[in-house]
Amino acid sequence: MSKGTLFDKVWDAHTVGVLPSGQTQLFIGLHLIHEVTSPQAFAMLRDRNLKVLFPERTIATVDHIVPTTNQARPFVDDLAEEMMQALEQSCKEHGITFYNIGSGSQGIVHVIAPELGLTQPGMTIACGDSHTSTHGAFGAIAFGIGTSQVRDVLASQTLALSKLKVRRIEVNGTLQPGVYAKDVILHIIRKLGVKGGVGYAYEYAGTAIKQMNMEERMTICNMSIEGGARCGYINPDSVTFNYLKGREFAPQGTNWDKAVDWWNSIASAPNAEYDDVVVFDAAEIAPTVTWGITPGQGIGVDEKVPTPEDLPEEERAIAAEAYEYMDVQPGTPLQGTKVDVCFIGSCTNGRISDLREAARFAKGRHVAKGVKAFVVPGSERVKKEAEAEGLHEIFQAAGFEWREPGCSMCLAMNPDKLQGRQISASSSNRNFKGRQGSASGRTLLMSPAMVVAAAVTGRVTDVRELI
Ligand code: SF4
Repeated sequence: MSKGTLFDKVWDAHTVGVLPSGQTQLFIGLHLIHEVTSPQAFAMLRDRNLKVLFPERTIATVDHIVPTTNQARPFVDDLAEEMMQALEQSCKEHGITFYNIGSGSQGIVHVIAPELGLTQPGMTIACGDSHTSTHGAFGAIAFGIGTSQVRDVLASQTLALSKLKVRRIEVNGTLQPGVYAKDVILHIIRKLGVKGGVGYAYEYAGTAIKQMNMEERMTICNMSIEGGARCGYINPDSVTFNYLKGREFAPQGTNWDKAVDWWNSIASAPNAEYDDVVVFDAAEIAPTVTWGITPGQGIGVDEKVPTPEDLPEEERAIAAEAYEYMDVQPGTPLQGTKVDVCFIGSCTNGRISDLREAARFAKGRHVAKGVKAFVVPGSERVKKEAEAEGLHEIFQAAGFEWREPGCSMCLAMNPDKLQGRQISASSSNRNFKGRQGSASGRTLLMSPAMVVAAAVTGRVTDVRELI
């Protein structure tokens, strides 16, 4: 097993004890909750007459079901309104801080916690959403959990977990223009497979990762789960500390200095031992697009869809399913494929730097005829910041719709849904069958800049042609 890694140090520091099952009882420093996975957990607490043990370590927001056009209450969708009321009621009953719509800090749970400075290095974090791995960008160990585990954390502030192995993934060198963090993580998942990370925590390192800002690092860690890893993290450094300094929940005064000392001490030691090490060359990564029904079915935009012969035996069955569902021909380019909907948003790519980069390509261009394109900021703060910079005007002038914050068409639990067999160019993180709200809808994952390139040409396009 690994030794001297950040994962080991944070794990040991939060170990309460070893359970009879052999699992570790791990203390959870921060529990993030939202409207979808918490109602049943609160109901289980009520049934057992239990209270939330650490309400001050529990933070709520609403993101999955919120409409992105009209957010007036009551919501038009009765079920969404019911979920909203249930969360409001539970937070009130248990004394939990709730960042509701209009608070100025509402948004996708994985966007707002870092913005508020709640996500900090060396923490253990849990949330009833798969993409909780996002918070690992700060050097935290962050787990997406199911509803019964949400109950466990609410009641005990601990989780029963088995220790993971640690794989160090180094990405060295410099990314080409038009290649982003999203391309890096899609490339990693393509190479290591969607199950390649099972049983592992991923530690991302190397010069290309070091050069990334916090938002890019969050994009990388966000999709760890899509590569099968239970969590992913990046060792904290001056980029992390500069991002955190002065944020609402970041330590202040002398506590800041103490915190930085602690944060530095939990980084992986130079002589740390890993269970596995994989190295990538940043220069070899192209703008990457998925052609199939898993995030691992990706190619460089200038490549052809793989034929069964190009793939290892164990990937051929899922590839056959993908060819049929996506209606793509093996051995042909994906570039030039017509798109119907273009979505910029989600906890992977709905942050301010994503919107700035997308706006840079949208400026002076126009969405192609017949394409529906929309931008959904990841949070109220992102929206405010973008509007202060005039990004919304650039998008609107280019024919994009400018929406209210939420998860939106990442998983379409709100009214933003694909229709029928529509193809979506999407900056989100999952291209599973039916993920974007239509049982037969098709999703092509890509970076926000690539989504703009698709929107303005109406087809899958290499964003480098627009530079
Ligand atoms: S944006 Fe998508 S992946 Fe992220 S929290 Fe919302 S639904 Fe989950």
